[in-house]
Amino acid sequence: MTDTETFYAELQAFAGIEVGKPMFGPDLVNAPMIRHWCEAMGDGLAIYIDAEAAAASAHGGIVAPPTMLQAWVMRGLEGLKGRPDSPYSDLLNKLDAAGFSSVVAVNCDQEYERYLRPGDALSMRTTIESVSAEKKTGLGVGHFVTSRQSYYDQHNELVGSMVFRILKFRPPAPSTGVPAGASSRPKRPRPTPTDDGTFFFEAAKVHKLMVQRCADCGYYQYPPHVACQQCQSYSVVPTEVSGKGEIYSFVVTHYPQVPSFHYPLSVALIQLDEGPRMISNIVGTDPSELAIGMGVMVSFVDCDDELTLPMFTVVNR
Ligand code: ZN
Repeated sequence: MTDTETFYAELQAFAGIEVGKPMFGPDLVNAPMIRHWCEAMGDGLAIYIDAEAAAASAHGGIVAPPTMLQAWVMRGLEGLKGRPDSPYSDLLNKLDAAGFSSVVAVNCDQEYERYLRPGDALSMRTTIESVSAEKKTGLGVGHFVTSRQSYYDQHNELVGSMVFRILKFRPPAPSTGVPAGASSRPKRPRPTPTDDGTFFFEAAKVHKLMVQRCADCGYYQYPPHVACQQCQSYSVVPTEVSGKGEIYSFVVTHYPQVPSFHYPLSVALIQLDEGPRMISNIVGTDPSELAIGMGVMVSFVDCDDELTLPMFTVVNR
């Protein structure tokens, strides 16, 4: 057996294991938490928040949104202080020690057996369903870990379950700060433009910033659409714009690091003078010095032989 095969075999020892003791929800299912959740999610369904309407419904009273399932047993801020001892932690620690120290959530599927009502007391048991063989992914080499959380009520009846998959992967080597093109880093992901959007990338190749402008009402729009978003006319024409604008909002991303990008990476929403907003990168300014409202000007970056992208530099306005 190779080292990879031996390691995979060791990981398989965790598959099927039920993880430690059940976790108990710190609070009973309750109307205030349901109300706050609905407010945060923008869900105004009466059976969740309107006691009178809920009483008159088939449910006979308020019920919790099914998607709150996980919230009832979640650990609070205390839970951020480290992993409790369990076979699941042992598995993650083992992957960490082998260099698969980064983590990203991959997917989550929930199934519901019944609606939860105020007064229900939930507990949760976790089983490690599977650990994949070593896989090559866009983020790096890693193992997929799939766990199942089963939720029970005060009568020990199953009320719902959740399958949760994470990727534990080996992080890329730290950024060297070498400019794009001068290093062996992989190329940036290719855009996949539609027929309506090809002009944007073709224009960028010749260092022009173009968006659609409606020939009927004059409205500028980006991203491209098949028709004018203002007057529904189909006469939307690629038109060069000034490239001037300002930072409407931005984030600076640090992790997870995709090998084709430099980090920290400034991702900004640019308010163009002509009206549309555009997501792009800010180049030439330390991300720590960026601020909302700063003036910017388009700057074309030749990422490689095939791809030129409009990015933005900070300018005084
Ligand atoms: Zn129009």
